[in-house]
Amino acid sequence: MQPVKKVVIAGGGTAGWCAAAALSKLLGTLIDITLIESEEIGIVGVGEATIPTARTFHHFLGIDERAFLKATNATYKLGIAFENWARDGDRYIHSFGEIGKSNWMAPFHHVWMAARDKGFGGDLGDYCFELRAAEEGKFFTSDTARINYAYHFDAVLYGRFLRQLSESCGAKRIEGRIRQVRQDADTGFITALELESGEVIDGDLFIDCTGFKGLLIEETLKTGFEDWSHWLPTDRALAVQTAPSGRLDPYTRAIAHGEGWRWRIPLQNRVGNGLVYASGHLTDEAARERLLSLVDGEPLTEPRLIRYRTGRRRKIWNKNCLTVGLSSGFIEPLESTSIHLFQIAVTRLIQMFPFGGITEAVSDHYNEIARREIEKVRDFVILHYKLTQRDDTGFWRERREMSVPDSLTERLEMFREHGHAWQAADDLFRVDSWVQVLLGQRLEPQSHHAIGQLMSEAQLRQALDGLKTNIARTVEAMPTHEAFLKSYLAA
Ligand SMILES: Cc1cc2nc3c(=O)[nH]c(=O)nc-3n(C[C@H](O)[C@H](O)[C@H](O)COP(=O)(O)OP(=O)(O)OC[C@H]3O[C@@H](n4cnc5c(N)ncnc54)[C@H](O)[C@@H]3O)c2cc1C
Repeated sequence: MQPVKKVVIAGGGTAGWCAAAALSKLLGTLIDITLIESEEIGIVGVGEATIPTARTFHHFLGIDERAFLKATNATYKLGIAFENWARDGDRYIHSFGEIGKSNWMAPFHHVWMAARDKGFGGDLGDYCFELRAAEEGKFFTSDTARINYAYHFDAVLYGRFLRQLSESCGAKRIEGRIRQVRQDADTGFITALELESGEVIDGDLFIDCTGFKGLLIEETLKTGFEDWSHWLPTDRALAVQTAPSGRLDPYTRAIAHGEGWRWRIPLQNRVGNGLVYASGHLTDEAARERLLSLVDGEPLTEPRLIRYRTGRRRKIWNKNCLTVGLSSGFIEPLESTSIHLFQIAVTRLIQMFPFGGITEAVSDHYNEIARREIEKVRDFVILHYKLTQRDDTGFWRERREMSVPDSLTERLEMFREHGHAWQAADDLFRVDSWVQVLLGQRLEPQSHHAIGQLMSEAQLRQALDGLKTNIARTVEAMPTHEAFLKSYLAA
């Protein structure tokens, strides 16, 4: 057991700088932190949409929201609008909000389904404040407002912002290319990183943030990769930035097309767009043409091709190397989960930090939590594909017909037969998230909890009308997303 005093982070993409910022801000007085990055290699830099846990991460780091919004051209995000997923022309929002008022006996959607059986109740989305605000293009927050939201931001600027924070908290940055990873001959533990300049950086714990290749975790430690591309076969994305156009939507758009889907992420000064596709079904050239024909603003950059493979590293903590970010595995950005996964990975490292020395007990425990967590995210993303009713292309027909993990089959059966959805122990997604996507993808429950029958029809109508009216009134009084952002940043 060798005490851990020196942490070396390999890679300065979003993952590397998130790790450096959190460790230096929170443990910087106890440990020494060095980050090595190579400008020549560069970063992926397209992760622009987050989920609300990003705010928790910022809160831990004491990040001022206005400073962050200004530095990264960020906007607010209340959810994701899925277009054309179950059928061409369909649209639903997976919002970050709570739907209606749930009761210990059953979540709200069971009450709503009881009303729907009787022919009233309207849309489930009418009972979700964040969803209604998103639809109306509105936003408001304050120290006391109860609104659940996330951000869209410029990933390159976010890295710079976090770099500044890290360096102000004592993290050291070294520019240079790592040419060799040195290991202890007996234990296989990493002892140092050797740069092309000849400089040698030694450490006790190494964090691999070198992107898809996983220079330490895979190329050196040969940890292994569990491939999930049979469930999630998209393997390429083309990203392009466009000039702002239309309303500043407080949500991400995920629009399905014949061989995948397309994102639209509005920032203060531009829009991020990308076409995600399966290269076995669509050529790069056809994808490029399709992307450029579909974007609604003037392109500001050339489309950039990014190749990836879906799956997870078999261990994200192996010996004295922890990997976070793209080197730890990847699930396509449909539910904006990558940044969350490495922010939670770093948070967990801080909670379980092996000050006294690295043991198998700590790495095994860490790996088990991380495995369960990413598998839940994987199931949630597969759900969107499995429940499609599209049959316009081979891509979508294969998705409908594929077998899915048992863990997801169980969920689909429970919802189809009984309307039951749940948030498991390691599950990032809340009951309302599962319900919005399951219903949005047209999975209609055959039955539901009878909680709605415990009220008379008049009581049920009154309760639902009250909730709906309150939300509609609150949303009506809110400023537009654009107006709020302007006044908030000017304040
Ligand atoms: C198409 C696409 C869209 C995405 N959209 C989202 C999204 O909306 N939301 C979300 O949460 N996530 C998203 N992601 C994921 C997100 O982009 C990544 O999680 C994020 O960019 C983190 O990347 P990274 O830091 O792990 O790797 P990278 O950005 O690849 O950084 C790797 C770093 O390692 C350094 N490096 C590599 N080799 C060496 C070497 N030999 N010597 C020195 N340095 C080296 C590089 O210089 C670089 O600094 C998306 C990913 C893709 C592919």
